[in-house]
Amino acid sequence: MTPPSAPVIEVRNLHKSYGDLTVLRGVDLTAPRGHVISLIGSSGSGKSTLLRCCNLLEDSEDGTIRFEGEPVVWRGEGAERHPADRKQVLRIRTNLSMVFQQFNLWSHMTILQNVMEAPITVLGRPRDEVEEKARAYLAKVGIGDKADAWPSQLSGGQQQRAAIARALCMEPRALLFDEPTSALDPELEQEVVRVIKALADEGRTMIIVTHDMKMAADCSDHVIFLHQGRIEEEGEPARLFGAPRSERLRSFLSAGG
Ligand code: ADP
Ligand code: MG
Repeated sequence: MTPPSAPVIEVRNLHKSYGDLTVLRGVDLTAPRGHVISLIGSSGSGKSTLLRCCNLLEDSEDGTIRFEGEPVVWRGEGAERHPADRKQVLRIRTNLSMVFQQFNLWSHMTILQNVMEAPITVLGRPRDEVEEKARAYLAKVGIGDKADAWPSQLSGGQQQRAAIARALCMEPRALLFDEPTSALDPELEQEVVRVIKALADEGRTMIIVTHDMKMAADCSDHVIFLHQGRIEEEGEPARLFGAPRSERLRSFLSAGG
């Protein structure tokens, strides 16, 4: 039996290439329950790839991934390696909800329908129960009055908050954010940061890829700085941002993140 204290996600020695391009070179990441982990680093350092490997949207050539202590079962070797058990993949993916930079709402569905879609079709939950939850999550992210609007009628910040409500409505074990604020104008960015901060404060488990060092500092328990597919430095945010040890992290931070 898995002890209840097992981390939601635990990645060890992860390696990932796209053809000849090696993107991850032995990365470790642990997301204990209730913790927020931020991934920072230059464009191309492998942040999105690591996030996508965590929820098995990407295969990986080597390393182990555990979800709540349960190891992913792999089949094949190297570039041929892939998860063996489709039910396990589905279980992990539905428990690690992704929020993307481009909110990816369905334009032909209302906001409420967007939020209700996956819990009904993927999890098979009853419509009434899902609608009640969906409305509650929309209210939680501050757009309860937009349930019947179309995505195109919302600002970028409101659309991203709808995407967060959609992820929450799956009631996942963890939320994975890939640059959730980088498509937004600065004033709209703050609405989304406030929602993410509130989720952090209520003890949600999250992994956040971000270019926003202030959000990483304010929301995270642990920050990982990736450089060319390796962890160059990691630590508690006050220490990492206040007293960076590696020259690469210092220059990354002084360039504005
Ligand atoms: P980051 O999110 O840190 O900017 P990514 O993980 O997106 O970095 O990308 C890391 C490297 O992998 C980049 O060089 C990128 O061009 C490459 N890459 C990402 N996705 C693919 C893909 N599907 N096919 C080929 N190369 C990719
Ligand atoms: Mg990226």
